[in-house]
Amino acid sequence: MKKSWICTICGFVHEGDAPPEICVVCGAGAEAFQPEDQAETAAPVNADIRRVVVVGGGVAGVSAAEAARKQAPEAEIVLFSAEEHLPYYRINLSRYLAGEITKDELPIHPAGWYEENRIDFRGGVPVAQLNAADRSVSGAFGVERADAIVLAVGAQAFRPPFEGSQQDGILTVRTIEEADRVLEWARNGKEIVCMGGGILGIEAAGAIARQGASVTLLEALDWLMPRQLNKKASDKLAAFMLNQKIRFQAAFRTRSITRANGRFVIAAEDGRVVQADHIVITAGIRSSLALAKQAGLETKTGILVNSRLQTSAPGLYAAGDAAEFQGVVSGLWTVAQYQGVMAGANAAGASQTFGGIPRSNALKVLGVELMSIGAFEPADDGDVVIEAEYDHSYDRFVFQQNRLAGAILLGDSSVGTAVKKAIEEQRDLKNLLHARPTAEQVRVALKTLM
Ligand SMILES: Cc1cc2nc3c(=O)[nH]c(=O)nc-3n(C[C@H](O)[C@H](O)[C@H](O)COP(=O)(O)OP(=O)(O)OC[C@H]3O[C@@H](n4cnc5c(N)ncnc54)[C@H](O)[C@@H]3O)c2cc1C
Repeated sequence: MKKSWICTICGFVHEGDAPPEICVVCGAGAEAFQPEDQAETAAPVNADIRRVVVVGGGVAGVSAAEAARKQAPEAEIVLFSAEEHLPYYRINLSRYLAGEITKDELPIHPAGWYEENRIDFRGGVPVAQLNAADRSVSGAFGVERADAIVLAVGAQAFRPPFEGSQQDGILTVRTIEEADRVLEWARNGKEIVCMGGGILGIEAAGAIARQGASVTLLEALDWLMPRQLNKKASDKLAAFMLNQKIRFQAAFRTRSITRANGRFVIAAEDGRVVQADHIVITAGIRSSLALAKQAGLETKTGILVNSRLQTSAPGLYAAGDAAEFQGVVSGLWTVAQYQGVMAGANAAGASQTFGGIPRSNALKVLGVELMSIGAFEPADDGDVVIEAEYDHSYDRFVFQQNRLAGAILLGDSSVGTAVKKAIEEQRDLKNLLHARPTAEQVRVALKTLM
């Protein structure tokens, strides 16, 4: 068995005999890593693969190229990327924006790695066309044929279709170039509005504030991260944001963005108006589907794939933010990494299946620990909610039929593993609940489960 280690904060997977000293993605220490056994690459089932083309130089594409190399040591592997840079940790653009890491620390591998692994990396070379029938790609470089092709073309940041959202001076944060422009605005002390209060929006706002700019975060829904947090936890997070000089407006449903006196004027449906020098939109992603559609592959939100990451055309695979598996485009780094490995190995002749990976419940938002797991609202009158708000943290536990059904831990997720275990194992906690415990006592009791 090959050894791998998963970061319990962000889900990053590190391969090696020991965990890394620091998680390259979220900066957590070695203690945050847990060992994980990973299946060895399956024995080849098709040894005739001589040439694999991977389109897209994000984490899914690099992982696919690496896995294809391991699976088919003699095959020719070409990796096309529309971006000129060496493939980089896109997930770390927020940390780059915050000044926590430099541009030199962004690449996933140094240039020499591609040579060593005989991966023909072609940066700044977009593929313009895909032909499913003869498995070829073409562009300014001519035509390249392959025995198998992996589409790892990722996604683009989404711009909601309200009036004015496509104007110059409004950016998303998806590439190094965009991050550099936002950085320039922030360092010039401009007033910046971030639109979209999901994790990416909160992180981007935090990073911009750390560069000294004045930031307002606007969220269309009634509170921050509504899929992970209840209103109280969101208010607590908003208080952390205010400490970091980020102003926040909830339920801000943008009607239009116009310009007046050289500034942007953002108008909400309820009449509120916010002005800004620049706008950063962080409102989710849309899979890049142009190549797949033009080649006639089946698509919905993403390029449809089965559990082997095969698309609807033989010999063509898809992975990462571009791929839709069982109705879901994950939009997550670790999933892109896993899918890339499997698509690359399968493209090179293996037969691995992807069953999904557990969603990581532990996060760090603005440096604050956050765990949100299971049901955090009671489902009926018999359910018990135990919560407590402290100066720098908030706990909420929801019990159904004497069992822990869900929790939110904001500010201190040190009992996170025990919470997860209690939920997964459906522990009977009748005795604990009988004593009508405080949230603090629930924490202590759960620790004994570890
Ligand atoms: C700022 C930021 C913070 C994030 N934070 C987190 C986080 O905390 N946790 C998390 O799980 N995820 C996070 N993500 C999401 C994560 O980065 C993505 O899920 C991941 O990068 C997807 O990888 P991918 O390889 O599928 O696609 P991408 O990273 O989008 O890479 C696709 C590549 O393909 C190239 N390409 C596209 N079309 C073509 C073509 N025709 N020819 C050649 N090349 C092409 C693109 O230029 C791009 O380089 C974050 C993303 C951003 C932007």
